[in-house]
Amino acid sequence: MDDFRLLIDLHSEGHRQGPGGDRETRLAVELSGLREAANLKVADIGCGTGASTLVLARELDAEITAIDLLPEFLAKLDQNAEREGLAHLITTRSTSMETLPFAEAELDAIWSEGAIYNMGFEAGIKSWRKYLKPNGVLAVSELTWLTDQRPAELQAHWDKEYTEVDTASAKMAVLERLGFSPIGYFPLPEYCWVDNYYQPMRRRFKGFLDRHENSEDARAIVSTEEHEISLYESHKAFVSYGYYLARKVP
Ligand code: SAH
Repeated sequence: MDDFRLLIDLHSEGHRQGPGGDRETRLAVELSGLREAANLKVADIGCGTGASTLVLARELDAEITAIDLLPEFLAKLDQNAEREGLAHLITTRSTSMETLPFAEAELDAIWSEGAIYNMGFEAGIKSWRKYLKPNGVLAVSELTWLTDQRPAELQAHWDKEYTEVDTASAKMAVLERLGFSPIGYFPLPEYCWVDNYYQPMRRRFKGFLDRHENSEDARAIVSTEEHEISLYESHKAFVSYGYYLARKVP
């Protein structure tokens, strides 16, 4: 099995495929001002197995299109939506976030938790903006420096892995430059990483390694994840995901 398949196997059993929390999705909904609106059309981009999609379906009066590259993740989302009686509100589409199946000005809101980095924050915002109605809401979480200064080891790691990591003020400036008016920001608290993402993933390591007969490739994946976890543990004062809410300037 190649690394890509192995990663899908490790992550598809997870409730989340990245740091986040139902409470934080609800906070973003609150800040979006959309709770009282009716008949919304919303996209959840890079939804994974749909932790945020299910919260949006419960909290908003909306038809939600949940987009992810991986049909394996969307199949889990479909199952969960069915089980929770939310399936009639959610349509899953397996496609790239770079070629979204929407018309211009079709959407009231675009949600995306821990996924826009796959395109890059700027490229994603530029390309998604047209699908929003005037005054439509963008809600994205994105890797963010929590402080002005940080340890060299951490800087070097992310300079290599994701060059767009930056402070919240710099991300807000990008949003403003690309035609959005920021309406909210909060950093994800530590439990969104540890309790909601890393610990459940760690509990899956043994079953994952057993399923793949402790293969070298499977062990390498576990060791990469362990490295990321320890990097986070050492440097959590300096880095998190920031949740950004912004309104499209007409
Ligand atoms: N929002 C989910 C998943 C975050 S992980 C959560 O917070 O739990 C990032 C997700 O982006 C993965 O599900 C991955 O399959 C998806 N992804 C990666 N590249 C993509 C692309 N080009 N288009 C659409 N989805 C993509």
